[in-house]
Amino acid sequence: MHVEVRGLTKKFGEFPAVNDVHFSIAKGQLIGLLGPSGGGKTSILRMLAGLETPDSGDIVFHGTRVNDLPPQEREIGFVFQNYALFKHMTVQGNIAFGLEVKKWPKNRIKERVAELIELTGLSGFEKRYPHQLSGGQRQRVAFARALAPEPQLLLLDEPFAAIDAKIRQELRAWLREMIDRLGITSIFVTHDQDEAIEVADEIMIINKGNLEQKGSPWDIYKNPETPFVAGFIGESTIVEDVSTLRGFEQAADWPGTKALIRPEYVEIGQANEFRLLSATETGRVRHLHFRGSEWLVEVDVGASRLVTYRSLEKEVLHPGEEIQVLVHRAYLFNDNDSWIMENR
Ligand code: ATP
Repeated sequence: MHVEVRGLTKKFGEFPAVNDVHFSIAKGQLIGLLGPSGGGKTSILRMLAGLETPDSGDIVFHGTRVNDLPPQEREIGFVFQNYALFKHMTVQGNIAFGLEVKKWPKNRIKERVAELIELTGLSGFEKRYPHQLSGGQRQRVAFARALAPEPQLLLLDEPFAAIDAKIRQELRAWLREMIDRLGITSIFVTHDQDEAIEVADEIMIINKGNLEQKGSPWDIYKNPETPFVAGFIGESTIVEDVSTLRGFEQAADWPGTKALIRPEYVEIGQANEFRLLSATETGRVRHLHFRGSEWLVEVDVGASRLVTYRSLEKEVLHPGEEIQVLVHRAYLFNDNDSWIMENR
């Protein structure tokens, strides 16, 4: 379903956990809520679900304000990080539970449970109890249980946080595929940017109760609207005084301006590798981190520390080695504004 949120605010004491948040989500979209711990992600989900009452703002599903609807009437499925399965019930029993509460007829429950077992790839595990399942299987039961009553909106609160890396990777792909198949509007909370980038149609970056930016992962990476977003997505380093870098001297006209520099803005090389020597300056290799497909190189240039990538095909650099550095662009910001500056 289509979801619209306007001016959503929630304070705990004086502290705004969620601060005047506005967004809308098209039907069938998968949205990742991404941000640091304590930013307000869970509070947003809980208000959508009706488990928490907003201080102000409207929550609108299908064009109807639902603020006053109790959770069970909002057509929402909720998946928690810690599975929250009933330990004394089998897989089948867990999936059927919500339908029994809603007094679905027995034969419809049976059909629906069979459908979900099939959908979530749990055939053969119907009679098992949660302790007889792996973490990934348990989480699939939790999905099946949340989907059983045919919700219109699926809320997932860090669904993969308790699962180890390899299985998590598989579950992400599985989730994406399942949501595409079902066409169900879904919002999932994560603090793992790779997870959000890989799975979500759009990301919402939440920090200190504020929605900093909403957009596709690529758009957010290319056009960050705030320094927080720029620093949160992708690798970067902050240079306190960018006017000390060659090509950015003009920035001295705006005292207090800092720069965020991404690895791909920085080119490095041994002296003989550079054709544009006039534009470069001298730096020193500080650390090299082997990343499997490339090196991540930390470089000192004057008082600034930069990071960049170096392809494995090029000659291996060594810590302490003097190299040439060219910074192509910087993302500049001060207290009031932010902008991109190119080194021409
Ligand atoms: P995490 O990633 O750690 O789950 P989050 O982004 O989901 O964090 P929330 O759980 O929404 O953040 O919390 C936002 C802020 O509101 C936090 O500072 C938290 O301490 C506070 N908070 C949340 N629930 C309550 C509550 N019931 N009473 C008081 N403060 C609360």
